[in-house]
Amino acid sequence: METILVLLHTESDGALGKSAFETIGAAKALGFDFAVGLVGASVQEAANQVAASGAAKFLAVEGADFATPRYGSDAAAVEALVKASGATIVLAPGTSRWNRVLSGVAQRLGGRADTHVTGLAAENGALSVSRWYYRQRMEAQLSRTQRPWIVVIDPGSQAAWQGEGGAATLEAVAVALPESAQRTCVTGIRTPAADAQTIRPDADLLFVAGAGWTKKQADGETHVPEAEVAIRSFLNLTRASLGSSKSLVDLGGEGQAVLSFLTHLNQIGQTGSTPRHPKGLSTCCHGEEPHAVGWRFIKERRAISLDANCGWARGKADVLYVADAFAVMAKVNELLSK
Ligand SMILES: Cc1cc2nc3c(=O)[nH]c(=O)nc-3n(C[C@H](O)[C@H](O)[C@H](O)COP(=O)(O)OP(=O)(O)OC[C@H]3O[C@@H](n4cnc5c(N)ncnc54)[C@H](O)[C@@H]3O)c2cc1C
Repeated sequence: METILVLLHTESDGALGKSAFETIGAAKALGFDFAVGLVGASVQEAANQVAASGAAKFLAVEGADFATPRYGSDAAAVEALVKASGATIVLAPGTSRWNRVLSGVAQRLGGRADTHVTGLAAENGALSVSRWYYRQRMEAQLSRTQRPWIVVIDPGSQAAWQGEGGAATLEAVAVALPESAQRTCVTGIRTPAADAQTIRPDADLLFVAGAGWTKKQADGETHVPEAEVAIRSFLNLTRASLGSSKSLVDLGGEGQAVLSFLTHLNQIGQTGSTPRHPKGLSTCCHGEEPHAVGWRFIKERRAISLDANCGWARGKADVLYVADAFAVMAKVNELLSK
């Protein structure tokens, strides 16, 4: 019989992030009893958000020392929560804060950690997990005998638990931090301006720009400045995440005019990223296999291309608009800004 701990941390506003609710959703779908362990400056508000989730208890490590991510204090907090709960299996969202410490904690506890888990299943009380390998080409299902087993779940891969808030009763878990765990001090956070940050993993929509935006159009001219305006306006109006084809980001390296806000980090595909947005809209992109493979986890796919025979038309998109993306996006932006 496994003892399950759902391990969560608060965000900077004291609340839980989306991936925390997804981890609760995963625990509930397994059908095991579970406890929740929380780390943060003050975790009552976060515990109240999931008070009705069916968790058997809420363990808390809180205080100023646990307000911001720091390896020493986070690792000590997680270690204390795992020990206090007697957990044999720990389910945690794959946030940057947890990804940094959980493998180290597994080592301290003599257990094992698996990251980038995208599926969980329980059969006769035994847990197995699945994850992708070799750039999302092969999916493996695995289980382990070592305990504690720390299972780090990829954000966006699970259905989030939804329910009313309530009043959770916290059980405080004391952590005596040695001097060595308090040396690092977060003095502030610098982030790019909202407009400069075009990769938004939590966005509902992925907007992909292809090389067509920089190609000669019907009038025999290129229209890169107009493309920039159309794409930027759409992103500002929708807060969609921006993806790109390889051809478009590569053009910059070849000295051609490209969209100024694109980098290789935006590239989707076999040699790029494989994001998990509920919807995707591809524009001026051919939808070739090395690109479309990066859409594996996008649930609803639409594309705008002039080419009625492009890859999207060959079963890779749910809807293909054979149209001029400059005209379509201008109209879409006009409607959105109303
Ligand atoms: C080993 C390997 C790995 C690769 N990895 C990746 C990867 O990770 N990601 C990736 O993206 N690619 C990858 N590629 C490249 C991939 O095969 C394609 O070359 C690339 O995706 C093509 O980009 P594109 O569709 O934007 O450009 P193009 O093929 O140039 O297509 C542009 C499209 O825009 C359309 N268009 C032009 N003007 C308009 C308009 N006004 N309105 C609407 N449509 C318009 C055209 O009809 C055309 O279909 C890889 C290739 C190899 C060999």
